Amino acid sequence: MRAIRRFSVRPVLPEPLTGLGTLVNNLRWSWHPETQDVFEAVDPQLWRSTGGDPVKLLGEVPAARLDELAHDDVFLRRLELAVTDLNAYVSGDRWFQTDAGSPVSSVAYFSPEFGITYVLPQYSGGLGILAGDHLKAASDLGVPLIGVGLLYRHGYFAQSLNAEGWQQERYPLVDPDGLPISLLRDGPESNGAPATVTLTLPGNRQLHAQIWVAQVGRVPLLMLDSDMEENDPAEREVTDRLYGGSTEHRLLQELLLGVGGVRAVRTFCRITGHSAPEVFHTNEGHAGFLGIERIRELATDQALDFDTALEVARGGTVFTTHTPVPAGIDRFPVELIQQHFSPDAYGEGVPIDRILELGAEDFEGGDPGVFNMAIMGLRLAQRANGVSKLHGVVSRGMFAGLWPSFDPVDVPITSITNGVHAPTWVAREIHGLTYAATDTAESDGVFDGLDKTSDAQIWETKRTLRQRFIDDTRARVRQSWINRGASDAELGWVDSILDPDVLTMGFARRVPSYKRLTLMLRDPARLKALLLHPQRPVQIVIAGKAHPHDEGGKKLIQEMVRFADDPEVRHRIVFVPDYDIALAQPMYPGCDVWLNNPLRPYEACGTSGMKAALNGALNLSIRDGWWDEWYDDEFGWAIPSAEGIEDTDRRDDLEAHALYDLIEKQVAPRFYDGEVPGRWIEMLRHTIKELGPKVLATRMVRDYVEQLYVPAAKSSRSLNATYDGARELAAWKKKVRTAWPQIRVDHVELQGLGDVPQLGTTVGIRAFAALGDLEPSDICVEVLHGRVDTNDEITDPVRATLAMAETYEGNRHRYEGELKLDRTGPFGYTVRVVPSHAGLASPAELGLAAGPSDPDDPSAPDLPAGSEF
Ligand SMILES: *Cc1c(COP(=O)(O)O)cnc(C)c1O
Repeated sequence: MRAIRRFSVRPVLPEPLTGLGTLVNNLRWSWHPETQDVFEAVDPQLWRSTGGDPVKLLGEVPAARLDELAHDDVFLRRLELAVTDLNAYVSGDRWFQTDAGSPVSSVAYFSPEFGITYVLPQYSGGLGILAGDHLKAASDLGVPLIGVGLLYRHGYFAQSLNAEGWQQERYPLVDPDGLPISLLRDGPESNGAPATVTLTLPGNRQLHAQIWVAQVGRVPLLMLDSDMEENDPAEREVTDRLYGGSTEHRLLQELLLGVGGVRAVRTFCRITGHSAPEVFHTNEGHAGFLGIERIRELATDQALDFDTALEVARGGTVFTTHTPVPAGIDRFPVELIQQHFSPDAYGEGVPIDRILELGAEDFEGGDPGVFNMAIMGLRLAQRANGVSKLHGVVSRGMFAGLWPSFDPVDVPITSITNGVHAPTWVAREIHGLTYAATDTAESDGVFDGLDKTSDAQIWETKRTLRQRFIDDTRARVRQSWINRGASDAELGWVDSILDPDVLTMGFARRVPSYKRLTLMLRDPARLKALLLHPQRPVQIVIAGKAHPHDEGGKKLIQEMVRFADDPEVRHRIVFVPDYDIALAQPMYPGCDVWLNNPLRPYEACGTSGMKAALNGALNLSIRDGWWDEWYDDEFGWAIPSAEGIEDTDRRDDLEAHALYDLIEKQVAPRFYDGEVPGRWIEMLRHTIKELGPKVLATRMVRDYVEQLYVPAAKSSRSLNATYDGARELAAWKKKVRTAWPQIRVDHVELQGLGDVPQLGTTVGIRAFAALGDLEPSDICVEVLHGRVDTNDEITDPVRATLAMAETYEGNRHRYEGELKLDRTGPFGYTVRVVPSHAGLASPAELGLAAGPSDPDDPSAPDLPAGSEF
């Protein structure tokens, strides 16, 4: 019999136990083992059987047990301590209040996915895990963030395998009543009705959404949910699942996230009194419409014109790009955007042609039929970044078309390397060995505790963690075989797969082609020999989900599964289905080596290797993403990349063989060097102590605060004050754009170079610039110099500003400066004029630069009067 309606009945906790509700409803428990201990004490067996889900635990614990606990003084005292600790965590001053001096009112952080805990399955992979770690680290540091996302009723899919090893997808229903989240409700004047936001869609349809709030330590996470009775069936399904459905479905999700998200933030601030954000941060382009909504607010509420509103919104917006692959960028047909932002649907506040301009690919190689979310993200955000140094370089090249007068090095996209939230990812045992301080991983030097631990102790701990991971893996493999049609009776062999004394390698990640899940299968005989080596065997545990529409990825998984099904090797290599936070948490500590072999440079950053490193695993990876930046032979091994070889088959062969060689000749011998391998453990110590502090999410969030949030908040504040600054900036940009075609450098020369330029010489440089209708204060004249390559390109230029020395008729000026010849070899320089204004975050912001005219050009102007040259 099918029920016509469902609802969940929540347990009523006896009065002395209400603290349990407080603990459950703040997700800080998910990274706070002491709080988990309290839950476990409620009913150890239930805690285990619910997989450590405190909402389920409290829903299922017998009332008699609750009564018993309500009279258990020891338990009540522990509970009180835990609640007191949480209250102190949530209300006390932390880094942001003390060291940073609270420089920003608040920051709204938008992301299509958030991976916070396995009980809240609202993520697909790295992007979501990163967003979750960002919120948690912000909470630990006291940074006033508001997270904004969607609540997907089916989350991302759960993965299993069929008999043939083909990926199967299930979408279990997520019941919000069974989650540690609560509905945002309006005040008593509305009888506490759920707060909602509404978007008007083409055809006069309405899309309503309610707002769930998850409390992530100090940080509220707002999640919009369209599954409401007020909606028509089609609109109810907008938030059905993550990354599923048609193009229009995806657009509706992104509209709800961006436009609805801003409205949800406003509603939340109104109801709770939370201070309004000065900065809006969009984690990848999917939430980019938030900028348009803020322009609409300013146009409607403050009667600002579009250009002024654009400046105000841009000044407070930060955009983080995550993909180095053009195909990974979100694009929509222009007509769809036209429909959804037409005046009928979106109102009159923002002219549709201005919106279309923002996402237009109006540069070389662009497609006029599409609206590009990353391009819009860059145009709507005054500050942008990639997620590792290398990804910064790749992104500047990839988006250079937006700043055509500049070299990629000048493209205003910086980088902040990702980090991971140690309290979430570091095993308790490792935490106990490494941290001298008992608090959080906030300050440097907290890893020094390792100095007091003997090699033998470290090695014993790693064995314990390997064993725990193996136990978990065996249970999962058994379940997987049952799903694949095997009976319990034929699965006896599963109890002896993997060995706690064998070198354990992990490989887990989503399965897009660039991550090359099956690279290790290039030479199956060679891999088999490594797995079955009589003295120095390795064992490999593999996990990862392919996107439901990615047949290629599913084929790779099947290939891997078939290899691992072979009775000859199945005790040494296993594919474990359903990679998620619950699988990942015991996996990182259980591994000795973390393997990553992406096609360089397509791994924007990668974070799994960081989590492994914090748990005392060594990295064995292609130098891509973060590993390119922080690789050191004390932290692991670099698999040589055969970049530049066009033939991908040959490239895979070369890289795979380099990988086999490394494992056979370096990794395994070092691991098996004696009972307690001294050199290995030395590397492990180095990894935790030297690499550990760099890979922390607290380091990352501090970087965001200092390098992006604070400057963005300053811009936002000055542009918002009276809007005069924004009006002036918008008018100034217009003037500069109009005047720019007349701007040029007429003539440049060096003085005091001598016949043979010598190292250490300081030479004078003079440049003459014609400024047309601009004032000298509107521009800046720069010299760029440095080593030149064979094409006369200045590699890695040094930039200096020239000072105005003299003014001539016709708005021409002489600029002067000095140049020190500080390196031998080919040296080159050039001079350019760029716009200059206190409101710019980068001289490249307008994409305008004027260089010297070609000396052979007959239209080149005469030198200024009064010049002796
Ligand atoms: C860390 C993590 C990821 C991301 O790993 P990458 O190295 O960035 O690919 C994906 N899924 C889960 C469950 C994770 O814990």
